[in-house]
Amino acid sequence: MNLWFTESQTKNLGLQARIKETLFMGKSDFQDVAVVDTHQFGRMLVLDGVFQTTIADEFIYHEMIAHVPLFTHPNPKKVLVIGGGDGGTIREVVRHDAVEKAEMVEIDGMVVEVCKKFLPEISQALINHDPKLELKIGDGIGHMKDAENKYDVIIVDCSDPIGPGKGLFTPEFYQNVYKALKEDGLFVQQTESPFYHQELITYLHKEIGQLFPITKTYLANIPTYPSGLHCFTMGSKKYDPTAANIGNIQPLKTRYYNKDIHKSSFVLPNFVQELLK
Ligand code: SAM
Repeated sequence: MNLWFTESQTKNLGLQARIKETLFMGKSDFQDVAVVDTHQFGRMLVLDGVFQTTIADEFIYHEMIAHVPLFTHPNPKKVLVIGGGDGGTIREVVRHDAVEKAEMVEIDGMVVEVCKKFLPEISQALINHDPKLELKIGDGIGHMKDAENKYDVIIVDCSDPIGPGKGLFTPEFYQNVYKALKEDGLFVQQTESPFYHQELITYLHKEIGQLFPITKTYLANIPTYPSGLHCFTMGSKKYDPTAANIGNIQPLKTRYYNKDIHKSSFVLPNFVQELLK
């Protein structure tokens, strides 16, 4: 069989994966949800036609969105993940000994259930009901409005700024994130491709920079994300990720993240530096 699935990454470019099998297709209250098994990247979660995570390259995104902030903060006891319904980010968060409690607020219960069934390698912390984890099915935007001086680290593992994720890219949301963090807290958000989403990245860096004294962008290479070059934005009240005193990470087995990657991911090509000026 020669079945292909295409994600339209821009109006003019798509990434195509040859499919072995469609494992799930459904429609939740928020989005179209699918899991397909691909020849190149293994099983893949797709939301509204957009590739979210794949068995082959998920480790890069999940390690980089979790370990960079958690090794920047010297004592991240209380962590919140917004989105991240596949469970990959929370899987990495609960591995940190310093983390005592990890809350996760995901809007779409169908994503969580489908990932538990078809992507158990990624959602193992959800399947095992990790004792540090508190999962809430609800809107991350509303959750932030009520929180104050509560978290050491907030990780926004959201989908693109369309549909239910749109409100996670607004000045009002960032003000609430700032309020919800403790006085030395920090947050990280996935902020798309510096190649295709330049206006968005410039805008977000400016908005976050108006609130947080330390605002930094870092990069990772993720093959199935648009352009392969993906960026994350960190807003921090006190700790500078480029000056982080990272101890021994050895007990934590990682496949992408290490001390040198932590530092080098903040070294930006000139065209990305230009976007942040
Ligand atoms: N790694 C992924 C990427 O960049 O493509 C993101 C993966 S994770 C599946 C994104 C999750 O954010 C989705 O499950 C989606 O349902 C969730 N989400 C979107 N808007 C949300 C909101 N307002 N509150 C909580 N979760 C939200």
